[in-house]
Amino acid sequence: MQRAVREVLDLVFPRQCAACGGAVGRELCHVCWDCLAGMWPVCSPFCSMCGDPVPGPIEHHYTCSLCVGHPPGFDYARSAFMYRGAMADLIKALKYHHDLHLSRDLATMLLACVNVHYSAIDIDAVIFVPLHRRKEIKRTYNQSRLIARELARMLGKPLIPDALQRVRDTPSQTELTSVQRRKNVRGAFRVCRPQWLDGRRCLLVDDVMSTGSTVSECARELKKAGAAAVRVVTVARG
Ligand SMILES: [Zn+2]
Ligand SMILES: [Zn+2]
Repeated sequence: MQRAVREVLDLVFPRQCAACGGAVGRELCHVCWDCLAGMWPVCSPFCSMCGDPVPGPIEHHYTCSLCVGHPPGFDYARSAFMYRGAMADLIKALKYHHDLHLSRDLATMLLACVNVHYSAIDIDAVIFVPLHRRKEIKRTYNQSRLIARELARMLGKPLIPDALQRVRDTPSQTELTSVQRRKNVRGAFRVCRPQWLDGRRCLLVDDVMSTGSTVSECARELKKAGAAAVRVVTVARG
């Protein structure tokens, strides 16, 4: 029945690709095959800890200089695609243009990433990077919360909706160096539900990751509150 309704709705209101505006041609999706094929998946070789890809062949176990110099708060971080082309368009559409239905498309991509790099039996709970309250009220939603909610549902794992709170409204990290980014987010997060984290292995979700300073700071707080492990997964890598 639901399928029939969807097919009728597709005929009356054909779904457009959120990246190129063309016909989608894929059920339940909002990205066309061409745009999907044109995205850059994050492939090995990459840093064993933060998952940052490295150009060129590396046969041995590799840890990047950032992770060696400043070990991150998380255990591992992995991303599905590079933040370029159609992927950047999708994230901007979700983040700035209220295309909330894209959270499901992005969560599907994240699910594939989780299945490749992690094991679902090692995950007890799903958590997301919070926005500062002022920013969330202005935007009216947190895109990472929407993606994490869909991903938790797909994984069959509980989402802890208010595990973390952003207590400082930090300036944008875009123009900052890695040292400045670490400083910028230091002390920006607080754990609100330590009783729900004790001994739990968390999957921390965010939309985009660059140097990883934000997810690292969140993971550090989660671990201080008793989380047994924090694995990070992001849709895109900047
Ligand atoms: Zn397209
Ligand atoms: Zn690294």
